[in-house]
Amino acid sequence: MSTSISSLSHQAMALEDQYGAHNYHPLPVVLAKGEGVHLWDVEGKHYYDFLSAYSAVNQGHCHPRIIQALTEQAKTLTLTSRAFYNNRLGEAERYLCELFGYDKALLMNSGAEANETAIKLVRKWGYQVKGIPNNEAIIVAVERNFHGRTTGIISASTDPDSRNNFGPFMPGYQIIPYNDIPALEKALSHPNVCGFWVEPIQGEAGVYVPDDGYLKAAQELCTTYNVILMMDEIQTGVGRTGKLLASQHEGVHPDLLILGKALSGGTYPVSCVLTSDEVMLTIQPGEHGSTFGGNPLACAVLMESLQVILDEDLIQNANQMGELFRERMRALQSKTPLITTVRGKGLLNAIIIQPTADGKTAWDVCMQLMENGLLAKPTHGDIIRFAPPLIITEEQMNECCSIIEKTILAF
Ligand code: PLP
Repeated sequence: MSTSISSLSHQAMALEDQYGAHNYHPLPVVLAKGEGVHLWDVEGKHYYDFLSAYSAVNQGHCHPRIIQALTEQAKTLTLTSRAFYNNRLGEAERYLCELFGYDKALLMNSGAEANETAIKLVRKWGYQVKGIPNNEAIIVAVERNFHGRTTGIISASTDPDSRNNFGPFMPGYQIIPYNDIPALEKALSHPNVCGFWVEPIQGEAGVYVPDDGYLKAAQELCTTYNVILMMDEIQTGVGRTGKLLASQHEGVHPDLLILGKALSGGTYPVSCVLTSDEVMLTIQPGEHGSTFGGNPLACAVLMESLQVILDEDLIQNANQMGELFRERMRALQSKTPLITTVRGKGLLNAIIIQPTADGKTAWDVCMQLMENGLLAKPTHGDIIRFAPPLIITEEQMNECCSIIEKTILAF
């Protein structure tokens, strides 16, 4: 790195290094403040945020309306547990059901928990409604999936880093290639399959967009074979790809929808599962829950966060700014062999970096972008994901594309 890191940054990084688990490999920047698309480090240096906390901050950092909803509710009532009713949960559940078109919602906290909830729901449905013999239910998942970090979820992962030395794994999965309809049909024809678990675009894997028609065909196969289509839109949902849900690009309405991240605009962990009465009511009192799931603070924040997406036309903006971004990146690609691919939808995009002759990689590009005031993170070695908050303006997007251009052309 060319500039020296100040002692303030050094201290913060050294503290984390000494007292924290080493379960991440962050870029060496210590952030202290955020507002909209902007971040500042402890020395006051300004950056554009092109990660949005893995798409949790779609509404921009510290959105005033969301912060107001959060603080007002925080002063009134934060947690009751589900031992009692609270006056915000029903409102939030109705809001979610009406907005996304489902009968019922179940609120959790992290994305992983929502996925675990989904697994339990489809298994239960499989036994009670589809009539699968006890303990023989199969969930079909795909290669390169990312659904979270619990042991139940990583049991379906094909990523060695997610799995190595964490076994033994949970049985009951069949893994097939992504974007492969014949493989899906073969898998779903097994009578013990209760769910097909998939991301409409594989975000963590590096923004893999399936062929047009894949999701639609998957939905039709799920209907044919009486299998629940479980769509994990934790990263792709809430406007990120230029539709409220990425499934809507193909007119698909999943049987079961999993949401998290931007449900709270990055202020608080909120996740949920939405589905039909037939599926949701298979779970009875005492069979599933969470102390914090559905707390009044989460409910207040989620309603305001979703309403901001709608009121500020952020879905439309994600579409337009995404087009602009890919157009400028494709123009850049034509000027340098460093970029081999540009892909994405809305404001969930990625470029693939061809390592240079002198061994410079996507990590070096991200380090230099950081120097130049833009934060993005490499994934799986050679991919850089670009996912700014959906509130980014055309002027800001052009400025950011110029930063990326200048940085890459200097390699
Ligand atoms: N599902 C998808 C598609 C994700 O992208 C992520 C996180 O990146 C998760 C699940 C896990 O969410 P969480 O980190 O909140 O557990």
